[in-house]
Amino acid sequence: MKHKLLLIFFISSFAFSAVKETEIRAIATHPSWYWKGSVKEKRSEMRHYFKLLNEANINMVYFWMETANMAALLGEPKYAKNGDYNFYSTEKWDCIGEMLKEAKKHNVELHLWFSFTRYKRNRNYVPEYDSNPEIMPEGSPAWASITKSEYEAGYTDPASKNVSGTALCNNAEGAGGWTIEVIDRILQKYPEIAGIHLEEPGYLSLQRCVCKRCQKVYSLLYDEPGENLLNHIYSGKNAREAYRKDPKAIAVKVYGTNRFVSKFRDFLEEKHPYKILMTGGGPYPALERARGRNWPEWIQWGWIPYFGCQAYRPNVKSFVTDCKSAMDAMQGSGAEFAPIIGMLYGSGKTHSNSPEMVIKQIKAARKLDGYKGVEYAGVQLFSGKALNKEMAEALGKGPFSETKPLPWENAKGKEDEKNLSKRKDKPER
Ligand SMILES: [Zn+2]
Repeated sequence: MKHKLLLIFFISSFAFSAVKETEIRAIATHPSWYWKGSVKEKRSEMRHYFKLLNEANINMVYFWMETANMAALLGEPKYAKNGDYNFYSTEKWDCIGEMLKEAKKHNVELHLWFSFTRYKRNRNYVPEYDSNPEIMPEGSPAWASITKSEYEAGYTDPASKNVSGTALCNNAEGAGGWTIEVIDRILQKYPEIAGIHLEEPGYLSLQRCVCKRCQKVYSLLYDEPGENLLNHIYSGKNAREAYRKDPKAIAVKVYGTNRFVSKFRDFLEEKHPYKILMTGGGPYPALERARGRNWPEWIQWGWIPYFGCQAYRPNVKSFVTDCKSAMDAMQGSGAEFAPIIGMLYGSGKTHSNSPEMVIKQIKAARKLDGYKGVEYAGVQLFSGKALNKEMAEALGKGPFSETKPLPWENAKGKEDEKNLSKRKDKPER
């Protein structure tokens, strides 16, 4: 009996740690990190980076783009001729086009990585707010979100210059349509972009948004005066936990993100059916949904076939705890799991993991295959800035020593169909 148990233990641990035939080995990059200087220097830096990717046997790259970068890329003069953004202008150097060429040469897939709520930056020239652009779709300053404190200070109009406007309102339907049109133009310009990674689709601040539009959503949902929404949004002073869990506030926040993701998914299916759709966010559903980042339901509704939780941790134990939290929420969905491992992370990139720790976490992630019936699809590494010679060698000689294709490359046509079918059966909302 004892021997039998040992044998079962041996077989099952072998099965769980066996490397799969396919594996996502993605890395998060920002085009401008690596490609500075003259065109010749940029090209050489870029090639150097792709060589490192090959050395590490990494098969996929996300490249981060904010809408201002997209405006420069598409040729909107205000951005294409502005020193902050003109890196993306194609006049002298087609950075995305060249990346795609290098990617093809090095057998790496390129995916576009962006957040439609524009939640992290506070710069001038937000293209979504521009009501008089030359090339971009028409925007509106009224799409800005406002916080509870801004509202209480008397700023009820999202277009007011007293509103910081660092994030778009989730419930601004026009802003979602604007994003879809811009992404469509980029995918048409660069059809080789293989997929889309939606970054943390929601707010950073729990205080957002209480604009008149969100109040209207509140009164539609609850048949109460819209201003009552204020009583349900986190105050920043007390009862932090209770507000995070306030179902009425959460319902208003996810109303708009649900609508956007549903439309985005339909748009991809209709116009770019072979693009792979993924999303990323934190591992704890309650904290995510309080920001409108409703990935647990999108995964359960079959809207997004791959999810990677940000499990940026300095040790294996807490990394696994994070992963399990996300996998608990994915149980029964049919979606596949590809956690994001921290190489260089934290706000201001103040934390880092050694190659040894990154490798330990990759091995731990593989062992999670099958936990709660959820399939492990691979790993994603953040940030790509940490991929130096030492890291690339450690990965390429260690857990990534064999090259692996991406899950959807395995049997091109069939896998594409599989990916599509995972995005079907969307519930009516
Ligand atoms: Zn709002």
